[in-house]
Amino acid sequence: MSALSVSIPTPVRPLKPPAGPEALEHMNLRQGEFWRVIPAYKDVDSDTFLNHLWQYQHSVKTPEELQHTVQDLAPPAFIEDMRAGFHRAPMNVRVSPYMIALIDWSNPYTDPIRTQFIPLASRLLPDHPKLSLDSLHELEDSPTPGLTHRYVDKALFLPTNVCPVYCRYCTRSYAIGGDTEVVEKAELATNQQRWQQAFAYIASRPELQDIVISGGDAYQLPAKSLRKIGETLLDMPNIRRIRIASKGPAVMPSKILTDTAWTEALVGLVECGRRLGKDVMLHTHFNHPNEITWITQQAMQLLFERGVMVRNQSVLIRGVNDDARTMQLLVRRLGYINVHPYYVYMHDMVKGVEDLRTTVQTAIDIEKFVRGSTAGFNTPTFVCDAPGGGGKRDVHSYDYYDRENGIAVYSAPSVKPGRWFLYFDPIDQLSPAAQERWKDPRTQDEMIADATARAAEGR
Ligand code: SF4
Repeated sequence: MSALSVSIPTPVRPLKPPAGPEALEHMNLRQGEFWRVIPAYKDVDSDTFLNHLWQYQHSVKTPEELQHTVQDLAPPAFIEDMRAGFHRAPMNVRVSPYMIALIDWSNPYTDPIRTQFIPLASRLLPDHPKLSLDSLHELEDSPTPGLTHRYVDKALFLPTNVCPVYCRYCTRSYAIGGDTEVVEKAELATNQQRWQQAFAYIASRPELQDIVISGGDAYQLPAKSLRKIGETLLDMPNIRRIRIASKGPAVMPSKILTDTAWTEALVGLVECGRRLGKDVMLHTHFNHPNEITWITQQAMQLLFERGVMVRNQSVLIRGVNDDARTMQLLVRRLGYINVHPYYVYMHDMVKGVEDLRTTVQTAIDIEKFVRGSTAGFNTPTFVCDAPGGGGKRDVHSYDYYDRENGIAVYSAPSVKPGRWFLYFDPIDQLSPAAQERWKDPRTQDEMIADATARAAEGR
């Protein structure tokens, strides 16, 4: 009888050491009733805090309301700084209780959520001379008020001018919210006649297939208005895709859970679109991993279960997400809750928030670090929405980048052929010599002419 031979399997040799705790950090979401640390919310139970009407009613709009809400969590000097900041802000202030509760009040000066929503006079910087209020020239590309038609097959419809919060860096600071002491807003309030004009234009242009409903913010539309706008567009034979844009999931996620009428209107449009072979998506706007909590996860899970796909568009903001590790964590956390990280935008060149802008080089460096952190379909494209209406350009795709003077030159052959589009880095990030050069208007023109000439040479 021959001896039975048994082969012993070679042990699998691990090619990589196990991941450290930082690789799992994206799953570590804030839990519990975290809002109770805020004096005004210390007795607020879960049902109340999650209720969207309570969130709207207790949103902070003035320095007095903020002081009343956080009481002695914020030092008196901070309150005075904020009061002075309110007077110089191009945007109204409105901050939801959810956001107030996520600010680290032991360090409000550097907190990334405070930075986005509450202006501080001490942090403001002089504007770059090339900034404007409507840097994307949306008004110029509007055939009818509240409709921007720039790309051949796509249009942006702005049904309202109000949002659940007001972001300091809003690209539409020319129109969104009420007038401030420094900006008189363009008229984009909800208006049925204006909507009808926009619908008539969209229906008359067979090349238009893709409509973004933004604002303002679709969160602020009553459920019946959201349904009406969506159904009107889906009824048009030319329309193939609708994107509903809302900051809401980032700043008041509990509305998805408690405003059943609104959520059902959204789900109904997605289902109707699917029956018609048309794509209806929700686009949202998370900027920092701290914005994502157990409440966000539950809200996104509800949408996922009901078949609503969600994409995210972040803005690259100084002091918020302009470091590679923070952006990597944000991207992984979004993927974890089934939100696709789609774009990271360069901060638009709008007035009054120069302290929030970064350089093109910063975007390039962060993109390089983030790529490879997770699957490609969950990796955002970093884009510069070319000032002057060139549309979104991959940040790397400049025709010339003068890093010394902070001038990136882009072209957009399929949008506006034959034109240059310029993005300017914030002046305080340049060398002292370059900062001097920007003080002289004639030298400014020379630097710009030189950069565009070099872009043309490279062709
Ligand atoms: S939610 Fe959007 S439209 Fe509204 S203020 Fe913020 S960036 Fe502007």
